[in-house]
Amino acid sequence: MFLTNVWVLSKALEFVTNNKGRPQLVYRNFLYNLDNGVPGGRQSWVCRDYRRLFCRARVITRGHHVDVRGTPHNHNSHAHIIYMKRLESCVAPSFV
Ligand SMILES: [Zn+2]
Repeated sequence: MFLTNVWVLSKALEFVTNNKGRPQLVYRNFLYNLDNGVPGGRQSWVCRDYRRLFCRARVITRGHHVDVRGTPHNHNSHAHIIYMKRLESCVAPSFV
């Protein structure tokens, strides 16, 4: 049941915060950290494994529009982390 919910939610952009209160983006079962300093009302996000695995996947968002940039992820999805985040936060799905 929970896994099904994660799958459905991951099809959409979802803005969350990490455990330090920093903005994070959930998109297609991957987690992205907000990259600072993007002009023009856009937000640039880098894969959360940018430093750890040198993953260069990146997305740009403008509202709920998304533009995928960079290279494909060089690792498995973050589905398990997203799943655990949902259990910890007990946040209800934003749409069902
Ligand atoms: Zn990545």
